[in-house]
Amino acid sequence: SEESNMIVTVRVRPLNTLECTRGNVTNVVHVHGPNELTVQSGSSADASAGVTHFFSYDQVYFSCDPERKNYADQQAVFAGTAQPLIDTAFDGYNACLFAYGQTGSGKSYSMMGIEALDDAALDGNAPHAEAGIIPRFCHELFRRIDAVKDQLQVVEVEVSYFEIYNEKIHDLLSVQHALTSAQDTPQQRQALKVREHPIFGPYVVDLSAHSVDSYSALRNWLAVGNSQRATASTAMNDKSSRSHSIFNIVLNLTDLSSDDGMSSDTDSGTVTLRQTRRSKISLVDLAGSERISVSGSNGERIREGVSINKSLLTLGKVIAALADTRKAGGSATPSTFVPYRESVLTWLLRENLGGNSKTVMLATISPASLHADETLATLRYACKARSIVNRVKVNESPHD
Ligand code: ADP
Ligand code: MG
Repeated sequence: SEESNMIVTVRVRPLNTLECTRGNVTNVVHVHGPNELTVQSGSSADASAGVTHFFSYDQVYFSCDPERKNYADQQAVFAGTAQPLIDTAFDGYNACLFAYGQTGSGKSYSMMGIEALDDAALDGNAPHAEAGIIPRFCHELFRRIDAVKDQLQVVEVEVSYFEIYNEKIHDLLSVQHALTSAQDTPQQRQALKVREHPIFGPYVVDLSAHSVDSYSALRNWLAVGNSQRATASTAMNDKSSRSHSIFNIVLNLTDLSSDDGMSSDTDSGTVTLRQTRRSKISLVDLAGSERISVSGSNGERIREGVSINKSLLTLGKVIAALADTRKAGGSATPSTFVPYRESVLTWLLRENLGGNSKTVMLATISPASLHADETLATLRYACKARSIVNRVKVNESPHD
């Protein structure tokens, strides 16, 4: 068992067309090298009235201007955040990558990109230039699997995909739902429950899991889930900004051993299975981190706001509690209460936050002056997360 700090990265998106055409909007985020950025807050009209806030992270991705030489495109962000988690998975460790930031800051663009709903690439081709972390991770995973297949290992890959909305869990890959999605609304679908497995920890009861043996098979499931998500989101105004989506990949690798006469029966050609390494990788697109107005006259909207705040507030509490534990002297003190079970999101991410997992946070921010307050809130949250330490161990089990 080894200790591993949560890796915290930040990505700055470009100013969008609307922001560019508004005369009073300026760029207040400046990236100074691979680890540092500053934010100007205060009056944008009078630069001297502003305050400069300085932040430092494991990695800062500048994605504002493709003309600049430090520009980070989708491939660069994938290579720096998720690609190392492929090794983590092959070594039998759990891994998690989550995107955090206000609505419109680039979480979904970073996690899924804009290829996901385009069926043209479903034939197993490499991801498109604007594909995000999830399709790139899946493509790379199968590229690596093809390489180890020669080394006589049994490989199993299983995917599941769900969203949390109003503290309720909905399967995005249920075949039943896929067939009836046109008439279905999220309220009519059954919400799934969380339970705790004595060894594997919290899990979603009755969540569908799908075995896949190629990138194109996996892409098909991703397309099903994304269209489920889009359908539900259209039925309910602006829902995607208030729901969390979690894409899970479970990788099982079984080593074959033929080096030992005792364990292999050469006459029948069978080989004794030696050891299984299991890894669960969670790729998470969180709900928008902005404060949701509770002033709306619509009761439904208020309830949505309350439970989004509940999951994200609890995530904040969990991160703060884990950061305090760290400050108190490194190893966990039993007296530190971490309120994982106060929300569905944190309960399910328990092993990814202070537990047995390598975890990467991607905080996404807008460079625009009108979002400076939310940007500062996101960056402070990300600073706190940097001090979290996980105790990671290989998930190995002898095979008999
Ligand atoms: P979020 O999921 O955080 O609400 P989105 O990912 O949907 O935000 O991004 C909002 C808009 O900005 C989308 O139109 C998206 O394509 C665009 N966008 C976000 N990040 C980038 C980026 N790095 N480069 C180009 N466009 C981006
Ligand atoms: Mg989004």
